[in-house]
Amino acid sequence: MLQRSDRANAISASPTLAIDAKTKALMASGVDIVNLSVGEPDFPTPERASLAAIAAITGNFTKYTAVGGIVELRRGIAEKLWKDNQLQYDPEEIIVSAGAKQSLYNIFMMILNPGDEVVLPSPYWVSYPEQIKLCGGVPILVRTDESTGFKITPERLREAFSAKTKAVLINSPGNPTGAVYTPDEIRALAGVIEEYPVYVVSDEIYEQLIYGVEHYSIARYSDTLRARSFVVNGFSKTHAMTGWRVGYVAGPRDLVGTMASFQSHTTANPSSISQKAALAALGTFDIHTRDEFRKRRDFVLAQIEQWPGLSCPRPDGAFYIFPNAGSLVGSFLRRQDGRRDRIDSVDHLCELLLSEAHVSVVPGTGFGAPDNFRISYATSMTNLQTAMQRISSFLARLE
Ligand code: PMP
Ligand code: GLU
Repeated sequence: MLQRSDRANAISASPTLAIDAKTKALMASGVDIVNLSVGEPDFPTPERASLAAIAAITGNFTKYTAVGGIVELRRGIAEKLWKDNQLQYDPEEIIVSAGAKQSLYNIFMMILNPGDEVVLPSPYWVSYPEQIKLCGGVPILVRTDESTGFKITPERLREAFSAKTKAVLINSPGNPTGAVYTPDEIRALAGVIEEYPVYVVSDEIYEQLIYGVEHYSIARYSDTLRARSFVVNGFSKTHAMTGWRVGYVAGPRDLVGTMASFQSHTTANPSSISQKAALAALGTFDIHTRDEFRKRRDFVLAQIEQWPGLSCPRPDGAFYIFPNAGSLVGSFLRRQDGRRDRIDSVDHLCELLLSEAHVSVVPGTGFGAPDNFRISYATSMTNLQTAMQRISSFLARLE
């Protein structure tokens, strides 16, 4: 019999996208669910981006472009990196792809040989370990928990290095925890990383969604580190453009060129229309968005603090809260008909939240933290109020 590849046998769908799809299917069938699962801003795409896309279509800007993105966009991104992050890059050191997800995959494909290790703080975003493994690499998890605000320390980082370490991944503000490293914390990690011959993959896609603290790109630390860093970012979160699929990476010139060669054989350029939209969106981040997200975070956090058995540190960025619900495992949910369901795991709790309370959240298992679950507060205050009421009533039925 024909055998499919080992790779095909090992891969499973992104749990965040899978839960979102399941939730949307239930909603489409008429079930009234509040969707707190996927990490997708509820704000509309900036109008000027949409208008630029329409102009691109009517102007017939609908053909292949340079594989790594049109030079105006790469120039605009270089300006942004200088203005927002004090990082100096030439357009030739930047490659635009179909979402930061593709940027990350390009990087891992270009730096990993079979068996190479990537130090990955855990909890992690679901796609990092999958992509690393698809590229033959081995994720080396450095566990963090609530006690350190889900942040790794220089000591823990040092312990994770081996002769096989090829790269370290830093994601600040982080998904799923919302944790943000302060500039001093980043500098302390950078000092350790600089001692080892390794690359740094710095996923900064949530950099603008940060509440009362400062974002600091690790590539700023020194010329040595900048020369080995990949700064990943995109338009999905900051500009509410998830569906347009535009992300980018700034990094070492030779590897950026190699990534473009790789991309030329896989997808070639990101959509010409989306590139024009992204160009128009650059520099338009509305700080009121940040205020709105902060208000939502404070509201959800205040609710969680009132729920017995749930706990989490205050997340300073992104639009996620990642409570620990481990202490609820083993309790029973009282059903309408008097039956009682034992909660076997936090995954099970999330299933019951969906089926009984009609609130969709993502279990922590896919993020490497089976005692937690992720709430995305990238939805309206009204939805959040409804969801919190539903979760409160659900928790009141536990015994
Ligand atoms: N990095 C992180 C941490 C994310 O949460 C996401 C979510 N989509 C991405 C990268 C990828 O974003 P996109 O491909 O939409 O640019
Ligand atoms: N990154 C978002 C999330 O974590 C979008 C879905 C995905 O690409 O994983 O929900």
